[in-house]
Amino acid sequence: MQECLFCRIAAGDQEADVVHTSDNVVAFRDVNPQAPTHVLIIPKDHIESARVLKERHADLLAEIFVTAAHLARANGIDRSGWRLVTNSGEDAGQSVHHLHFHLLGGRKMAWPPG
Ligand code: 5GP
Ligand code: ZN
Repeated sequence: MQECLFCRIAAGDQEADVVHTSDNVVAFRDVNPQAPTHVLIIPKDHIESARVLKERHADLLAEIFVTAAHLARANGIDRSGWRLVTNSGEDAGQSVHHLHFHLLGGRKMAWPPG
């Protein structure tokens, strides 16, 4: 069994509420939602975090952002507003070491984030 939780979700070996899937990307609802809409968008390939991204990931990142906009529409938050955020490293509070973007919306967000 793979060690990485999000690799297991991407492979379908770990249960998740998957809301979108393509050849390169999977999106599923966060198990501990911080907003009425809280979806995690991940690459299927294991990438540790935004820290290790390279030019060659450009197409993947474009797909992730387009997927976020699509899911915002699908969840009815495209007009009210939404946030797309990735945590990289300890100070940012990254707890799962497989690149993921949080799509958050459905409530008023504070700025700056905590
Ligand atoms: P991070 O803190 O690394 O930015 O975000 C990790 C996120 O993964 C957290 O919001 C956490 O709730 C979520 N998470 C952790 N384990 C699971 C799981 O098994 N299933 C799902 N759907 N989300 C998870
Ligand atoms: Zn992984």
